Amino acid sequence: MHDVIIIGGGISGATAARELGTAGHSVVLLEARDRLGGRTWTCTFPGTGTAVDLGGMWLGRRDTFRHIYVEADRYHLPVVQTPSTTVSSLIIDGMRHTDPQALPPGYGAEIDEAVRRITETAQATLPYLHVPDRTRPLDVSVRQYLGTLGLSATVVATLSQQASVHYGAPADEISALYLLGEIASRYTPFAQQTLALDVLDSFRDGTKTLLDALIADAGAEVHLSSPVRRVAQTSDHVEVITDAEERFLARTAIVATPLNCWQGIDFSPALHSAKQAVTAQGHAGHFAKVWLLAEGLPEPHFFAAGSPDGFQWIRTERVTDQGSLLTGFGDPVASPDLYTLGGAQKALAAYAPAARVRAVHSHDWNHDPYARGTWIAYRPGWLTTHGPAISAPEGRIAFAGGDTSTSYNALWMDGAVETGIRAAAHTRALLNTPVSTARV
Ligand SMILES: Cc1cc2nc3c(=O)[nH]c(=O)nc-3n(C[C@H](O)[C@H](O)[C@H](O)COP(=O)(O)OP(=O)(O)OC[C@H]3O[C@@H](n4cnc5c(N)ncnc54)[C@H](O)[C@@H]3O)c2cc1C
Repeated sequence: MHDVIIIGGGISGATAARELGTAGHSVVLLEARDRLGGRTWTCTFPGTGTAVDLGGMWLGRRDTFRHIYVEADRYHLPVVQTPSTTVSSLIIDGMRHTDPQALPPGYGAEIDEAVRRITETAQATLPYLHVPDRTRPLDVSVRQYLGTLGLSATVVATLSQQASVHYGAPADEISALYLLGEIASRYTPFAQQTLALDVLDSFRDGTKTLLDALIADAGAEVHLSSPVRRVAQTSDHVEVITDAEERFLARTAIVATPLNCWQGIDFSPALHSAKQAVTAQGHAGHFAKVWLLAEGLPEPHFFAAGSPDGFQWIRTERVTDQGSLLTGFGDPVASPDLYTLGGAQKALAAYAPAARVRAVHSHDWNHDPYARGTWIAYRPGWLTTHGPAISAPEGRIAFAGGDTSTSYNALWMDGAVETGIRAAAHTRALLNTPVSTARV
């Protein structure tokens, strides 16, 4: 009988393990894959010797995301900044523009005005963000919400696409309320007409360095290649059974799998109906992230956006001796060949016809049974219909996972750290022990 079984070894599960392990509890961590890290995965881009993250990479900004930076500082992990870029190529209404000073007349002013109005609405919503009766009219799709603002079709298309890239799903499938909540409470995806040209931090040696530090600190008993198929709780313990019929017992458990994976686990008693509803439908996030090694770009620090298919957003992340390493994001449903060399070449050529892609590297998270999607995108209606029940503990089981964050950072690693700490705090209370003495 252990104190706690943690199911899932991504950042949230590893954070929970660290919190509980350093507080003196016996922790078993069961991870389905043969590696830890979940939707973060640091690899080497073949042939370059350069570490790249196929999943979570950017930390956000220090002023808006506090939890991830606390961990970066705690473990003295070096952080580097994405090279700053200017717009190299923008596609607007099917036309390619390479001079940001020569966009269609009135376009910039209309975007600025739209952004001002959206930000104003977001700020006005802040006091009652968690009151469903007040926010329900805004819990519609981003496209539907933008349609109410009287904007030109061109500007609706631009802003829809910015939101799509941010959430990794088409604008019809993502909640305007979530977007407004995010703008109001911590982040401003629509802050700049220049399409998220912010300088963003990432871990110099990859996100794996954070995972390794958390796990080293946790002192947990880690079982890899141990997918959990059943979680049953009674009034005084939790029984967890893996696909290989291994059986683990503990006083408590933390489920730290992606929300889209809850449906693959047999819970007894059954999960709250809200959790069942969201996992059955699945969150909407599914955009591909593809690394490209390219040459022949108009400038080594390249940024482009606006193509309705292919890469909807692409920019230089690292400059190596072999060429520029770029990350491109696009919808693999609309452009299934994005993961291939030929598909990536075609998608990059839409912005930079003379560029040549020498190699690509990526992971298809959508067809990965232990992710079933990418970073979370809340669907219209989820917040006001299902609300806090998505993240609420159930008996002896707490729920971690960035997907369950209620602080509008769910799509970020910051949310994974926060929910790991939250679930561990709940578990400690259940185990009736003093507050964490986790090393700072
Ligand atoms: C392509 C991509 C790009 C991203 N970019 C960024 C970014 O730049 N910045 C950022 O902050 N965030 C980014 N994110 C989001 C971020 O990576 C995630 O939000 C975060 O890593 C989630 O951590 P987690 O612990 O909640 O879940 P996960 O990392 O998904 O961990 C869950 C773990 O549970 C395991 N599991 C699943 N089912 C079972 C089971 N039945 N039994 C046992 N184990 C199971 C999985 O194998 C996995 O290890 C990105 C995500 C993706 C996919």
